[in-house]
Amino acid sequence: AIEVASLDKWYGSFHVLKNIDLCVSSGERIVVCGPSGSGKSTLIRCINRLEEHQRGSITVNGIALGDSVKNLDAIRRDVGMVFQHFNLFPHLTVKENCALPQMLSRNTPRRDAEERAMSFLSKVRIPEQAEKYPGQLSGGQQQRVAIARALCMTPKIMLFDEPTSALDPEMVKEVLDTMVVLAEDGMTMIVVTHEMGFAKRVADRVVFMESGEIVEIGKPDVIFEAPTQERTQNFLQNIM
Ligand code: ATP
Ligand code: MG
Repeated sequence: AIEVASLDKWYGSFHVLKNIDLCVSSGERIVVCGPSGSGKSTLIRCINRLEEHQRGSITVNGIALGDSVKNLDAIRRDVGMVFQHFNLFPHLTVKENCALPQMLSRNTPRRDAEERAMSFLSKVRIPEQAEKYPGQLSGGQQQRVAIARALCMTPKIMLFDEPTSALDPEMVKEVLDTMVVLAEDGMTMIVVTHEMGFAKRVADRVVFMESGEIVEIGKPDVIFEAPTQERTQNFLQNIM
């Protein structure tokens, strides 16, 4: 579970996150949407401490994200992240991309790490690409490698930051389908996306953010069909 309480963050003098409260229970799927610059990426980057916050608290599976390096390690172990740009190592094969992080941060023996890599590459349905380099794959395939690589670390929570927004339309579905499978497996997920079909299908709750604030949280049918806040209504009119 993730508990974000009274969270504030500034970039210099710019107040980017304002009094954010959000509890995500174990197994829950949250979709975060909102206009560009509203703080969506910053919020999820705070959750695995890619960014520091200045006020309030974040607790992940009972561990507070404070200054302790030990806590940070524990949280990073539980939280996997997938970015808009896949951030694969270009000079490593697909299989090595998935195996190396396990070998480096868990001391997993190469043979076991590669076996695990292959099992997750099968799960995202690209085992036949294992010996290729990222540059030889389509965007959708690269993103599925990034998902497999994160899963190899046995995360309890997965954070996705616009995982399909850099993809050509025909590749969006294969990545979303992979994420649906994860959701069906019961993974706790926070997904920043404007893919409303995905949100309606898998999200337990949708968070709408604007100007660093959570404007509205609710079930997808409520947020998309009958939002109570004018700011949510305006945003949805623009993207639909
Ligand atoms: P998008 O939909 O475009 O990805 P977002 O909702 O993810 O937007 P953030 O990336 O969280 O928005 O950025 C929120 C605000 O903080 C923006 O105004 C952005 O310019 C600013 N910002 C982001 N990163 C930094 C940084 N490292 N230093 C200063 N300002 C930043
Ligand atoms: Mg963003």
